[in-house]
Amino acid sequence: MEISKCLIIGAGPAGYTAAIYASRANLFPILFEGIQPGGQLTTTSEVENFPGYPEGVSGPTLMDDLRRQALRFGADIKSGSVTEVDFSKRPFEVTVNGADKYYAHTVIIATGASARYLGLPDEQKYMGMGVSACATCDGFFYRGKNVAVVGGGDSACEEALYLSNIAKKVFLIVRKPALRASKVMQQRVLKKENITVLFNCNTLGLFGDEVLEGAKLVENKGTEMEQIFDIAIDGFFLAIGHTPNTQVFGTSLELDSEGYIILKGNTSATSVDGVFAAGDVADPRYQQAISAAGMGCRAALDAEAYLVENDL
Ligand SMILES: Cc1cc2nc3c(=O)[nH]c(=O)nc-3n(C[C@H](O)[C@H](O)[C@H](O)COP(=O)(O)OP(=O)(O)OC[C@H]3O[C@@H](n4cnc5c(N)ncnc54)[C@H](O)[C@@H]3O)c2cc1C
Repeated sequence: MEISKCLIIGAGPAGYTAAIYASRANLFPILFEGIQPGGQLTTTSEVENFPGYPEGVSGPTLMDDLRRQALRFGADIKSGSVTEVDFSKRPFEVTVNGADKYYAHTVIIATGASARYLGLPDEQKYMGMGVSACATCDGFFYRGKNVAVVGGGDSACEEALYLSNIAKKVFLIVRKPALRASKVMQQRVLKKENITVLFNCNTLGLFGDEVLEGAKLVENKGTEMEQIFDIAIDGFFLAIGHTPNTQVFGTSLELDSEGYIILKGNTSATSVDGVFAAGDVADPRYQQAISAAGMGCRAALDAEAYLVENDL
């Protein structure tokens, strides 16, 4: 049986960075890419906030650079999705594509998180041309323009406040008659002059010739007061949460109530010794490429230290 020192699951900024560090530490890592080699950034055109690219860089180019950097030091990057893990065994057993078994002394999970969308066909149509699930990433492209944020929780309020410092006007589209966010957040949003909160509103669709020009909303749906109206916007930001990609780990790891992997203290260690996690899958708060990459570095260093401590 072949046992690798380090097996990495996921090929986003966290996974590739872990692979760079693990290869350079002679851990000969195997990395499985899953169904989205390069991760979430392969779905975006321009990344302007990843350090080291003063002119910005396209998402796919950035991810290809990271991949090539990992390959340069000998990372064994394989296609395939991890479909099952057994962390009760030592070495750990990892099943790929429902069939192939791999064994490893350490595993780094870097499977990311997927933004939730409303499920409107128009979201796909205007993706990257007005529709976004990340205000920190894309807000800057809407300087001086009108945008809408969908959601009523803390992150929706945060996104609305962030955008209100960049955009001319922000509509906050809230399904319910009140915000779910904390009182402090609610006050900040309601006080902000260029934020208009549209309570009891749902989005019916988006429109625009090539790029987004507006959204069709319904207020008080299904009641006598039902009213359909349009708002003119250039950007439509979803802020209704993310789903961490942890389904495959089932009960083998400690997860929080939303399914994010819980890390021990200020490390990348999970509830299972020898299993580490990095990037959005263990980070409901920051969810940025550079923070994911930083976590990938930490996970590889933690895996290396674990191997040394355990004479593996
Ligand atoms: C449209 C868009 C634009 C963005 N723009 C920016 C930006 O400008 N700047 C910025 O900093 N951030 C941006 N982000 C956020 C950024 O992309 C994420 O924070 C970052 O990609 C997270 O990296 P990650 O490595 O944790 O996971 P991801 O990039 O999500 O990668 C996850 C990887 O895990 C793999 N995987 C999942 N499940 C399995 C499995 N079972 N087996 C094997 N592999 C698996 C996937 O195939 C993928 O390769 C943007 C996100 C989106 C969606």
